[in-house]
Amino acid sequence: RIVYVNGAYKRYAEAAIHAEDRGFQFADAVYEVMEVRGGRLVDATRHLARLNRSLGALSISAPMSNGALLHIVGEVVRRNRVRDGLVYLQVTRGAGPRNFSFPGLEIFPTLVVLARSQRLGWADELAEHGIAVKTMPDNRWGRSDIKTVMLLPAVLAKDAAHSAGAHEAWFVDQSGAITEGASSNAWIVTPGGVLVTRPLDPRILPGVTRATVKDVAAAEGLKLEERAFTLAEAIGAREAFVTSATNTVMPVVSIDARQVGDGRPGPVVRRLRSRFHELAEISIV
Ligand code: PMP
Repeated sequence: RIVYVNGAYKRYAEAAIHAEDRGFQFADAVYEVMEVRGGRLVDATRHLARLNRSLGALSISAPMSNGALLHIVGEVVRRNRVRDGLVYLQVTRGAGPRNFSFPGLEIFPTLVVLARSQRLGWADELAEHGIAVKTMPDNRWGRSDIKTVMLLPAVLAKDAAHSAGAHEAWFVDQSGAITEGASSNAWIVTPGGVLVTRPLDPRILPGVTRATVKDVAAAEGLKLEERAFTLAEAIGAREAFVTSATNTVMPVVSIDARQVGDGRPGPVVRRLRSRFHELAEISIV
């Protein structure tokens, strides 16, 4: 397998990051994960827009133009012969003598791009039955809208969820409202058939899949309310689901071991899932 690191395509065994890279020492870095489907990129424009937003929020300079970045992404996809899978892209502030303060202008951002195959249909099989989620307090920092690699709270939350037999963790804020999943945005369908997801705020990531699912919902004529919802409302919902680039729309059939609806993926989530790739942007790379 081949990985792009700072200007060169390398075999994994030959690829290296500086020992004083600020991504490694301070999690001073941002990332993106994009779906690859049939050798094409899904929602690349929205992913690059969010990458630039994350970089801007942290005053990390963009390593190159979006066009140049897309070219590298395409090369990495081709060199790894990925038809279905994902692209992982990370930008760190760069390497320099360890110091909390930003280094001066002598620093250059580090760029890593890798691609991995994942069997098409893997997520479909999971979606047939749906997943269980487990809630826990949202103990992340106050800027979860920036896609940083500072992922330890999410790592620990996922591990706790897995230990409890669940597939995803849902974070709950101090007011008792669900913020989002450890690596997904959270949604419900009310007993009245209205889609509900939390409005964008600093506590959640502006999910690319969330944005595209809003487009799908509009195309389907579904009613959508962007507002916070509580655990109690989610358990009493008709349907629940999560969205993320790697799983698109994934039904949630139980929350904290309590069944949602009839415990099976419902019609709304199935419709959103089946239409997702018709409305997502698909680009040749
Ligand atoms: N929230 C968090 C915390 C995430 O890590 C992710 C996945 N990157 C998402 C939401 C979903 O975002 P997207 O649809 O862009 O993958």
